[in-house]
Amino acid sequence: MHILLMGPPGAGKGTQAERLVEEFQVPHISTGDMFRAAVKEGSPLGKQAKEYMDAGQLVPDAVTIGIVKEGLAKPECKKGFILDGFPRTLEQASALDEALNELGITLKRVININVPANELLARITGRRICRKCGSTYHVMFKLPSSEGVCDKCGAELYQRDDDKEATVKKRLDVYAAQTEPLISYYKTKGLYAQIDGLQNIDKVFADIVANLRGE
Ligand code: ADP
Ligand code: AMP
Repeated sequence: MHILLMGPPGAGKGTQAERLVEEFQVPHISTGDMFRAAVKEGSPLGKQAKEYMDAGQLVPDAVTIGIVKEGLAKPECKKGFILDGFPRTLEQASALDEALNELGITLKRVININVPANELLARITGRRICRKCGSTYHVMFKLPSSEGVCDKCGAELYQRDDDKEATVKKRLDVYAAQTEPLISYYKTKGLYAQIDGLQNIDKVFADIVANLRGE
């Protein structure tokens, strides 16, 4: 079960990926999570990525493609993965095709979680993340049982620097210019499926699972 999750920032990719990895028992590969981990470590990759992330821009393709290829080559990806936040440019998409080809992996589906731009600002600015395990919450749409504390591991929740309003607009513009064209790329390949991301989290999940199981 090799799946790509697409959609604009704030559409719900990470939220759905958390549940899909449990459902299908496959690894979650999120380039955003990889970059945030590198920033936290203070590694050279993290220092480089942070500049772009804080500006709401994409990390250069050469860097991003390199880290994804390393991730895909791990043995646990043989039986499947949920790839979230990659590819985001046509160059990344063709590098992914090449890498999967070399690994003998065929994508099953590209799921696009469709949410209109006017809804995304509220989703992104209300997002809160667990400092320890990375679980995602929302101040209105997905409250933890105890304010500011992760239900899963008890660690503190925080707001990502790039989720503040000033950066969000830039990220949405970058999505429209560089990532949205991938929709027709995957439509042409016959892999594309669109899910209504305006529905509640449970319904979006049910629709994705039904699509993947071919119901
Ligand atoms: P992405 O990974 O696509 O950037 P997230 O999964 O982090 O998006 O979701 C963005 C924010 O919106 C999070 O705070 C999340 O809790 C919330 N969210 C996700 N899906 C929904 C939904 N279907 N309805 C309302 N809020 C949602
Ligand atoms: P995300 O967690 O997916 O919202 O990503 C957060 C930030 O990480 C983005 O705004 C980019 O700066 C960077 N990033 C994540 N994935 C990619 C990618 N595939 N290509 C380039 N930059 C990325």
